[in-house]
Amino acid sequence: MKILVLNCGSSSLKYQLIDMDNEEVLAKGLCERIGIDGSKLTHKAEGKDPYVVETPLPDHEAAIKLVMNTLVDPEHGVIESVDEIAAVGHRVVHGGQAYSSATLVTPTVKKVIRDCFELSPLHNPANLMGIEACEAAMPGVPNVAVFDTAFGQSMDEKAFIYAIPYDYYEKYGIRRYGFHGISHSYVSKEAVRFAGLDYKTAKVIVCHLGNGASVSASINGKCIDTSMGLTPLQGSIMGTRSGSIDPTIIQYICHKEGRNVDYVMDILNKQSGILGISGVSSDFRDVQAAQHEGNHRADVAIQSFVYRIAKYIGSYITAMNGVDIIAFTAGVGENDGEIRKAVCDYLGYLGITIDDEANAMRGKERIISTPDSKVIVAAVPTNEELAIARQTLALVTSR
Ligand code: AMP
Repeated sequence: MKILVLNCGSSSLKYQLIDMDNEEVLAKGLCERIGIDGSKLTHKAEGKDPYVVETPLPDHEAAIKLVMNTLVDPEHGVIESVDEIAAVGHRVVHGGQAYSSATLVTPTVKKVIRDCFELSPLHNPANLMGIEACEAAMPGVPNVAVFDTAFGQSMDEKAFIYAIPYDYYEKYGIRRYGFHGISHSYVSKEAVRFAGLDYKTAKVIVCHLGNGASVSASINGKCIDTSMGLTPLQGSIMGTRSGSIDPTIIQYICHKEGRNVDYVMDILNKQSGILGISGVSSDFRDVQAAQHEGNHRADVAIQSFVYRIAKYIGSYITAMNGVDIIAFTAGVGENDGEIRKAVCDYLGYLGITIDDEANAMRGKERIISTPDSKVIVAAVPTNEELAIARQTLALVTSR
């Protein structure tokens, strides 16, 4: 059975066609600059050269049509007919409080996605456009929404509630939702399986460290806590996002600089984090290069990032009353042994020791702690597309 996985941004559309018989990626690609001059598709099919099509893509429907035509193209495609696609799995960022697992798209589901536009203005409108483009291009093919917020729905109220008047939760759903849920859920399962632990009982901490960064604690797929909040701005320090700050800072900057809240929010989302502290870049590799050359602000940015992650881990160990495995994932977490080591250096009191050789290796999932380490530490590549395809398959085959 073949599942198409879509991840739509406001002007982009990423896709993978996965054969679920062996979980092999048959083709993947990206449509860029949708609705903007210079749009193009870059398509890569297994065993074939990359294929680039530069053509106007006025909207997501045009992009989906181009993807379909490319997938069945005799030279560059991988299927004979669109009928071979059994279902489409969509990454949807915000599902509010309505969905704690993947769900078949219906008019009600689309309304919930629309109702969450305000909470996820950059992503949810694009996600819905992708769904509606598929409905138009492939009538009858089921669409499944896989929510990034679903994992966080299993948090207890004591963990997700903000200490502001309860009315705001009841009236507007203001609570912590958590994001990167598809990744946290996938990596927690993979890490436990790989380490040979019992999924039902293992206490797992996942550090998803990429341009966006978040930490989660979970047991048996139940999210005990996760670092992001109502939006992905809360939590650890990120590439350009501040993470958690004293809210008074917003008012203070507004008064000092004669700006409005929207301006400061933009600064907190796009000009802060590693970029804001270092003044060098939002990309860890650039900031680390500057750190190694003796740049003070780059050094503070990296140290502050590491310190905050270590503090999340410490607090989540308290929340779960223990930890069996800590897994690092995403761009930094998967690739950057220096950051992983620096975080684990704070955790010596737990009896964690890192195997420097394993930590220096790249690529596949691997245990990076020594055999006598009291807690297993692993680097586990995330695979959100495969997670979406698995959830989509499970849903369409159980109907
Ligand atoms: P992501 O958002 O998961 O794609 O992660 C992006 C971040 O990962 C960027 O800050 C990159 O600098 C960082 N990154 C990617 N590859 C590496 C690497 N090999 N070493 C260190 N950082 C990396």
